[in-house]
Amino acid sequence: MGNNLLFHRPIPRLIALKFAFLCRERRSSNGIRVAIVGAGATGLSAAGYLVCRGYEVDLYDKLPLPGGLMTFAIPKHRIPLEEVMEGVEDLRRNFGVEFNLSVKVSCGDGIDECDDLAKGRIDLQELSGDYKALLVATGTWKSRKLGLEGEDARNVYTAIDYLRKLHLRILGLEGEGMRLGRVLVIGGGLSAIDAADESINYGADEVLLVYRRTRKEAPAGEWEMRRLEERGVKILELASPKRFIVENGLVKFVELQRMMLSEPDETGRPRPVPIEGSEFSIEVDTVGKAIGEVPTPPIYSGCNLLNLSDGLKVDQDFRLIGNIFAAGDVVTGPSKIGRAVKQGLQAARKMDELISKGKIG
Ligand SMILES: Cc1cc2nc3c(=O)[nH]c(=O)nc-3n(C[C@H](O)[C@H](O)[C@H](O)COP(=O)(O)OP(=O)(O)OC[C@H]3O[C@@H](n4cnc5c(N)ncnc54)[C@H](O)[C@@H]3O)c2cc1C
Repeated sequence: MGNNLLFHRPIPRLIALKFAFLCRERRSSNGIRVAIVGAGATGLSAAGYLVCRGYEVDLYDKLPLPGGLMTFAIPKHRIPLEEVMEGVEDLRRNFGVEFNLSVKVSCGDGIDECDDLAKGRIDLQELSGDYKALLVATGTWKSRKLGLEGEDARNVYTAIDYLRKLHLRILGLEGEGMRLGRVLVIGGGLSAIDAADESINYGADEVLLVYRRTRKEAPAGEWEMRRLEERGVKILELASPKRFIVENGLVKFVELQRMMLSEPDETGRPRPVPIEGSEFSIEVDTVGKAIGEVPTPPIYSGCNLLNLSDGLKVDQDFRLIGNIFAAGDVVTGPSKIGRAVKQGLQAARKMDELISKGKIG
């Protein structure tokens, strides 16, 4: 395995996050090799299923540690890193899963968030040729944009980039710390809550969370908002950024506009409407945008394998094309760990069925 950090811990008798939970120990190999691209909840649970069916599984991930969002975005008080690593170590040591880390797999040229952590690149089509089947489980590593002036300044981070920077620091994988100062987090979902929470944990001077509706409509729920307030976060409801005022490449002020709620929109929640002339500015050191992520299949322009103009579509067997399958958030869009695990297990079962029936290559 490329990176052995944190793999030296002895495995306790009860493994906290056991991915190979369908069998007690490694079965004799059926000699069939399967690749999984993406070592998040989906990829790890698929690997767990397949090793229990006797497959030899190789995992590939662009990040320096396995676990996907569980390792690099979700706060450690919710999912302790040791629990993820115990499950990973169980797969590696007891079931022979090979982890190839810091390697991006792709067809065509394209860049997603955190690609800078990958040290190498492998062609998806070539890789699929080396295995009986390949599962794409690459999640959602691109954030939506606000489309506002000044958004690309150096101190404006997406939730994923922001959280991974804080986590890399906590993991001791990134030496240089960020000076957070006064942090403004934009959004009302769980990513926004996590970005605000982790800012406090990391020692921000002050944290403000701005949401365009009220806390009652926030996807994260009122309880989370109240909890943040108890931790000292200031919640600015019914406000939305209008532009970022940049000085020397860094946002110095965020201009916000007050909003009011109107008729329900397509989501069924009241539509936030800007109030003319209600603009006000606040001074910031760091901005975290947590307004949602989109799926990142490893297929980009210039790839002649598939055309994804209509998005990533799999059939009822999770098959994308030929011997390539896909599952998890990359197919469903942002979801939850439970759903990603279920997708990984279902896709792995289908792959096993089709291979067993000789329906792949
Ligand atoms: C901030 C945040 C907090 C969350 N909190 C919770 C929570 O508390 N509870 C909950 O149930 N869910 C939570 N979720 C959702 C949950 O994390 C996801 O639904 C789940 O982790 C998705 O699993 P996945 O394996 O499909 O994708 P991911 O976990 O994203 O894993 C995908 C993996 O693929 C790798 N990858 C991507 N592209 C490539 C490539 N081209 N080549 C190689 N590797 C690649 C990535 O590095 C990553 O390791 C949260 C999400 C976020 C963003």
